[in-house]
Amino acid sequence: MGPASTPREVMKELVLAGMNVVRLNFSHGEHSVHGATLETIRSIDEELGTHTATLADLQGPKLRVGEIEGGAMDLVNGEELIIRTGKEPGANGVVFTNYMQFAADVKPGEPVLLDDGKLRLEVLETNGKDEVRCRIQYGGVLKPRKGINLPSTAISLPCITEKDAADLAFALENGVDWIGLSFVRRAEDIRELRGIIDAAGSHARIVAKIEKPEALEDLDNILRCTDAVMVARGDLGVEVPMQEVPMIQKDIIKQCMEHGRPVIVATQMMESMIEAAVPTRAEVNDVANAVLDGADAVMLSAETSVGAFPVNAVRAMSEICASVERHDHVYHHERPPFSPDEDRFISDSICYNACRLAKRVEAKAIVTMSFSGYTAMQVASQRPACDIHLFTANKRILKQMSLVWGVRAYPYLKMVSTDHTIADIKYVLKKDGRLETGDFVIHLASMPIADAGMTNMLKLSRV
Ligand code: PEP
Repeated sequence: MGPASTPREVMKELVLAGMNVVRLNFSHGEHSVHGATLETIRSIDEELGTHTATLADLQGPKLRVGEIEGGAMDLVNGEELIIRTGKEPGANGVVFTNYMQFAADVKPGEPVLLDDGKLRLEVLETNGKDEVRCRIQYGGVLKPRKGINLPSTAISLPCITEKDAADLAFALENGVDWIGLSFVRRAEDIRELRGIIDAAGSHARIVAKIEKPEALEDLDNILRCTDAVMVARGDLGVEVPMQEVPMIQKDIIKQCMEHGRPVIVATQMMESMIEAAVPTRAEVNDVANAVLDGADAVMLSAETSVGAFPVNAVRAMSEICASVERHDHVYHHERPPFSPDEDRFISDSICYNACRLAKRVEAKAIVTMSFSGYTAMQVASQRPACDIHLFTANKRILKQMSLVWGVRAYPYLKMVSTDHTIADIKYVLKKDGRLETGDFVIHLASMPIADAGMTNMLKLSRV
């Protein structure tokens, strides 16, 4: 979201065009602006009966250069640039950064990338305190406040900065559904965030943004701790060689499906649509490939926040997703549960076998009843070729589930017998046009229903 997408009439068009999740990027904008965006989307949801999820994306330890006298500095190949710590404006071959450990963390020979990697320096010497001498390898114009990436340096900043803590408090107070954590380096970063969310009594869930080489090394542990993942290709493509990003994207998505974690593919998906009403053919292919890889969600950034055609961008993306999903090879990534020793072995086995059965009988839908949404996410991670409906007494997850592949969520507040509930649900889905007479439908639930325990029951029936 940004100035191009936050007017109410535009946001409503975005929902109608296929937007399921609203991202508030806390790298930009005041709290009052994000608060107004949340109010707007909630009133649109009420009007349209939709459940749009909200994602607060925390900036994390993003390193930046400071102000620059005259608004820009020319960096010439082969010349030297001094980077000092402090808040002064840069001038005459010296720029400043507010990353106070910069000189202590970098070592001679390490690369320093500026402005998403468009400019590249090499560290020649550091005094270990407040000054680093660099050689300019790829020069160009350096503008104020541009990002610094240090792909080969172990950065000693905390994952949740002071700014993040304040932004997080605001997001939690305002009932945001998902919290995105930038520059995650290890599973411990997720545990720290979870601690803060729990202490605030919030049920917000976590999206780990994968954009650092360290995160790729600890990915399995990160996937065990996080609720969802974002392949944050913007910074990732600066932190690792950009030609490696396509295979990393495929690998992360595959591992997310194995762990039953929703995964977002982000950044530059429709970049040309910042200025153009239609995407390039290469962009259409990029979105289609993300869907084929198995992504739960594809994301737009500048295209909708500051672009000239935000609604066209969402509509085009939505049409690409729908078109690719009409083909069979998007489906059936069947994966048996890990091991009988896992806590969720019984429900995971039920979800896995529900998807196998759905394939055998060509079921129209798998219907899960779940308080946490766990079974809906497990079923979705198998990518079955049928609808997934979630009925829940937990209003909080209605919106959260909008991030998850193929899941449509409905409130269900009655506490009656399993037979009664199943009959009720079939009635609702038939009335909604989601099921027709003769369709096979698979129900998942927990018995006894009053215990609201682990999913342990599968029923196949015909409408
Ligand atoms: C990215 O780097 O791809 C990304 C999504 O991060 P940002 O929050 O900077 O858009």
